[in-house]
Amino acid sequence: MQWEPVIGLEIHAQLKTRSKIFSGASTAYGAPPNTQACAIDLGMPGVLPVLNEAAVRMAVKFGLAVEAEITPQSVFARKNYFYPDLPKGYQISQYELPVVGKGHLMITVDGSEKRIGITRAHLEEDAGKSLHEDFHGMTGIDLNRAGTPLLEIVSEPDLRSPAEAVAYMKKLHMLVVYLGVCDGNMQEGSFRCDANVSVRPKGDDAFGTRTEIKNVNSFRFVERAISYEIERQIEVLESGGTITQETRLYDADKDETRPMRTKEEANDYRYFPDPDLLPLVVTEDFVEEVRKELPELPDAKRHRFIEDYGLKPYDAEVLIATRQLADYFETVVRISRCDPKLCANWVMVELSGALNKAGLDITESPVSAEKLAGLLKRIADNTISGKIAKQVFELIWESGKDADTLIEEKGLKQITDTGAIEKIIDEVIAANPKQLEQYRAGKDKLFGFFVGQVMKQTQGKANPKQVNEILKEKLKS
Ligand code: ADP
Ligand code: MG
Repeated sequence: MQWEPVIGLEIHAQLKTRSKIFSGASTAYGAPPNTQACAIDLGMPGVLPVLNEAAVRMAVKFGLAVEAEITPQSVFARKNYFYPDLPKGYQISQYELPVVGKGHLMITVDGSEKRIGITRAHLEEDAGKSLHEDFHGMTGIDLNRAGTPLLEIVSEPDLRSPAEAVAYMKKLHMLVVYLGVCDGNMQEGSFRCDANVSVRPKGDDAFGTRTEIKNVNSFRFVERAISYEIERQIEVLESGGTITQETRLYDADKDETRPMRTKEEANDYRYFPDPDLLPLVVTEDFVEEVRKELPELPDAKRHRFIEDYGLKPYDAEVLIATRQLADYFETVVRISRCDPKLCANWVMVELSGALNKAGLDITESPVSAEKLAGLLKRIADNTISGKIAKQVFELIWESGKDADTLIEEKGLKQITDTGAIEKIIDEVIAANPKQLEQYRAGKDKLFGFFVGQVMKQTQGKANPKQVNEILKEKLKS
């Protein structure tokens, strides 16, 4: 039988506010354990939560970016459960009325676009963290994370393969980072994914029973966890078994998922509106204010890079990977006024290659956009060849000096004086009579030898095009 996977993702993005969602405690990552959770985050008796407006702003910003309905009046609810990292016994979340309603995101897989529905996105608080590694036979509890604002983004079960799931997750990741609402740091848990997976006979309308894989925090693991889970479910079904609706854990070392607990039903949580919090009212004015703060979004930027700069879709995709890289590229184009394709090549190949090798981010580049533009101008006006430019690029990288200074200092200017080039060519030909004879006898390959000799004589500074043209003439019998 042919099976079809059905996948829906629930993604938790930590919002980049400075303080917690209901208290003034800091959200900074990496502080000593239990130094950043206040009485409100711990839910001590008598405390009152106060909603952080910055978190609402970010949620609305996200909602607008995925063209979702913004709920005029949403409600915070208590989701009751016991766990050591949740000492107050409930999590403040949104249930029936989330702040962000139905929206969508476009993904591209194997060259074709697909629209993935977003069911909702709601605000909630993160819980603390259980630490199992450092304590023999015991569990440590760090409550610093308690109360950190989360936006939980729930997709429709529209995804049909692990590749689509990863494409969706990557796209969403890029979007929240572009919007500046999440730092996207997956190692630190700022962007985490729960994957819901089921399979059904291809052609069926009804969905199969699903399992939920909890807390997968890398793109690679999401792909592997889902692939494993699809295979597992197919095996169970083909051998006559049934799928139990349950929560599973992905073990990256063993590359398998295993049961964690049977799935709670929503009514196990005894949701009810939090009596300490008023309904969240988002006015149209507020929405419009946030709309004005929206940056150019990745899809629009990619489109513009293709249209305005004539870039290939692949190149545009690489250059818009982050806002900073895109800005860098545009600064180079603006200042150098060179062909955008030349600029794109230098940013994508020389610069990105050097940054990768050095383990640096574009924001830490030793070569500024201004300096790279200065270099490209000298290629465009023929002061130096593309080959010499690579040398100059390395010198800029090391010294921080600009291209003009370095070209002058090191005498790297290209030789374009026809007379000078002819003279060198004559000398080279005179010094290599044997090769000349062989070339004229039909050994065409030797042309490259002569070019090489001329370049050697000029330390690579002769204009390659002129060298080629003049040599061709002179080598004729
Ligand atoms: P819960 O609140 O119990 O987690 P939801 O109905 O909100 O359940 O769905 C959570 C996620 O599971 C959503 O992303 C949804 O798209 C996905 N989902 C629902 N049913 C299925 C299914 N049969 N197979 C795969 N994913 C599913
Ligand atoms: Mg869920």
